[in-house]
Amino acid sequence: MLIIGAGPAGLSAADAAARAGLNYLVIEKGLIADTIYRYPVGRTVFSTPEELELREKSLHPCRDKPTREELLSHYVRFALEQRLRIYTEEGAGAIERVDDATSSFLVYTTRAAYTASRVLVATGAMAHPRRLNVAGEDLPKVSHRFVEPYPYVRKDVLVVGGGNSAAEAALFLSEEGARTTLAIWRADWEQRDPKMNAIKQWVRTPLERELAERRLQLLHFTQLEEITEREVRLHTEDGALRTLPNDAVFILIGSDADHTLLSRLGVDFVTAGLAEVPVYDPDTHETNVPGLYVAGHFTHARHIKQAIAVPRRIIPLIAQSLRTTAQR
Ligand SMILES: Cc1cc2nc3c(=O)[nH]c(=O)nc-3n(C[C@H](O)[C@H](O)[C@H](O)COP(=O)(O)OP(=O)(O)OC[C@H]3O[C@@H](n4cnc5c(N)ncnc54)[C@H](O)[C@@H]3O)c2cc1C
Repeated sequence: MLIIGAGPAGLSAADAAARAGLNYLVIEKGLIADTIYRYPVGRTVFSTPEELELREKSLHPCRDKPTREELLSHYVRFALEQRLRIYTEEGAGAIERVDDATSSFLVYTTRAAYTASRVLVATGAMAHPRRLNVAGEDLPKVSHRFVEPYPYVRKDVLVVGGGNSAAEAALFLSEEGARTTLAIWRADWEQRDPKMNAIKQWVRTPLERELAERRLQLLHFTQLEEITEREVRLHTEDGALRTLPNDAVFILIGSDADHTLLSRLGVDFVTAGLAEVPVYDPDTHETNVPGLYVAGHFTHARHIKQAIAVPRRIIPLIAQSLRTTAQR
């Protein structure tokens, strides 16, 4: 069995595959738990330890919820302690169907080609950060990912976006002394439905405090016109064109999965909200391509809790189907 991606879903799948006695391998294009590695430095995650840990009562954060560093360490140590078979810094580039007596797929990576009877794709949904497609978006001062606030102390920073990532980045920047403006679409600011990625209460409360104390500016905008070396021009709700002094821009408006591996193989997709989601059997997570399975962030089971739970449920079924095939 070949597992593509070593995020929470891929790690859980590797663990379940090892327990089921399968001959498995994980191929990871980055590092173990690469998405968590890319969270902002020092960020506290919003899930509880029970929802994130790979073994019951094995994640012990200093506070009630772990930081990025505590969670990353948990996943890396788990992979090491369980001796999970993971090849890092090796990306999967294509999957081909072969259907000979012993294998069903040939998986080409940046280093090798592997045959596999079953493939589980757990590549997450972070491949393509969304862009505004405005003039100046490729300037070096523009970033689609926020890492930490310290390079921006006493600088003019614009954060664009209405979800938790943008709100948190604006909060971190403002708290650490960057002159921060959060540019947001009004509908995003006003919506409070957690299922719609509304800003979480524990981010909103300190954010509103920063606003009340005038360290942070909030701007309801309709369109960003242009980013230049020293300024940003945007249209505000009242129809005015505002020019802001600017040293750095963070565009944090979400990201999309890369479905190339699946779509080239003929996997069907449906539209769910802003995303395209592969069609799969809800019980087995098998796609319309027999032997090809999906799990994690780019399915309907998006959060870490489900990314871990689904492989635990489906890998024993896959092991069973392999045994049945072998007995024939
Ligand atoms: C800032 C931030 C904070 C978040 N906080 C939370 C939270 O508190 N709680 C929560 O439940 N969720 C949170 N999430 C979402 C959470 O990160 C995802 O639900 C989780 O990572 C999904 O796990 P996954 O294994 O499906 O995908 P990922 O963790 O994204 O793992 C996919 C892996 O596949 C690898 N990969 C991709 N393409 C290839 C390829 N072609 N070949 C080989 N490898 C490949 C990637 O490098 C990556 O390591 C947060 C997300 C962000 C961005």
